[in-house]
Amino acid sequence: MALPARRIFQFETTTFMDYIANLEPFFMKVYNLLDVGNLSLFEMIEALKKNGISQCDPAMLSKIIEDKLFAALGEVNCPECAAKAHVNKRRNVHVTTTLGKLSFAASYYSCPKCGLCFDPGAVMLGLRSGPLQYDVQKVAAKIA
Ligand SMILES: [Zn+2]
Repeated sequence: MALPARRIFQFETTTFMDYIANLEPFFMKVYNLLDVGNLSLFEMIEALKKNGISQCDPAMLSKIIEDKLFAALGEVNCPECAAKAHVNKRRNVHVTTTLGKLSFAASYYSCPKCGLCFDPGAVMLGLRSGPLQYDVQKVAAKIA
């Protein structure tokens, strides 16, 4: 026998509200630990693990990192001549970490004065060249 529609609605609403109520503190904990601008990607993953977070949706991590990276970069100046740099090319960064594969948008910048092209997001996050990031390399080194 099917439940009355109203009952189903209430059940789903309660479940949804419980789900959101449980998710919000977790999200805020992750959000606050992802201190883009002060910590490297590796240090942020270490911080999550130190706070008992050994699993986290990579899509959620990617989105938070993308947003915070954009906010942290703000106005970018050339590391060579200090002129105001412009976004040269947008790209998607794909990195493999011990918390999964992260993909987020970042930008290459170029300097209109001296012509230097650079990647301040990669520097800020301390990204390794290639997809395997430091935490994965560390784990791989322990196994080897
Ligand atoms: Zn320059």
